Amino acid sequence: MILLGPPGAGKGTQAANLSAALKIPHISTGDIFRSNIKEGTPLGVLAKSYIDAGKLVPDDVTVEIVEDRIQKDDCKNGFLMDGFPRTIPQAQKFDNMLKKLNANVELVINISAPDSAIVKRMSGRRMCSCGRTYHVVNLPPKTEGICDACGSKLFIRDDDREETVLERLKTYHEQTSPLIDYYSEKGILKNVDGTKPISETTEEILKIIADLKG
Ligand code: ADP
Ligand code: ADP
Ligand code: ZN
Repeated sequence: MILLGPPGAGKGTQAANLSAALKIPHISTGDIFRSNIKEGTPLGVLAKSYIDAGKLVPDDVTVEIVEDRIQKDDCKNGFLMDGFPRTIPQAQKFDNMLKKLNANVELVINISAPDSAIVKRMSGRRMCSCGRTYHVVNLPPKTEGICDACGSKLFIRDDDREETVLERLKTYHEQTSPLIDYYSEKGILKNVDGTKPISETTEEILKIIADLKG
């Protein structure tokens, strides 16, 4: 299953809830890049130059990471992609790699949110290296600056500065939004409103999944 949507729509937040409810791994290409940046790997150095500019990391690099990740044992019963694919070529390559594994994309949830809401959300976003995401007003941790789940110190993403957010929105509209049509044409896309309270959106997505299973 794939979570699609602009930066700040709530993909990571929903992915954390869904991953817990469905007991399938949450795979975020953004988190993979950030952990490589933190460790100073060659991949991290490369990815950082694109991420800080609000651009996408090149497709070949990104696709290879995903191909490695989805072949791990924990993906045998399904997995949740957050932030991948983000371009049409990534989606085509993803389809091909799944076919080789005898799998396919079952469901794409498109989470929408207007650009105006997104800029506000990003300025209050706080992240944990464990993958949890908070917001200073909308979803504060129990203790300020500390992750509820693992106790680590929360951080502000370098690319959540307003100038970079505007650039990321531009990148989204140019390169990622065409995926809405790509998956609609396959009949596997469902739209959800990302401006509702977090738990309502989670319930809505879980209901879509339950209906799909019949
Ligand atoms: P994405 O992964 O799509 O970039 P996030 O899940 O990181 O988005 O959410 C962006 C920010 O908005 C975070 O600070 C998060 O806590 C907050 N947020 C997520 N969903 C909602 C919502 N439905 N209403 C209000 N704030 C939200
Ligand atoms: P958000 O959901 O808030 O947009 P992510 O954590 O998903 O942020 O991604 C952060 C950055 O990592 C992106 O702006 C982009 O530079 C890079 N990135 C993440 N996923 C991909 C991808 N599938 N293809 C190319 N670049 C990516
Ligand atoms: Zn944490």
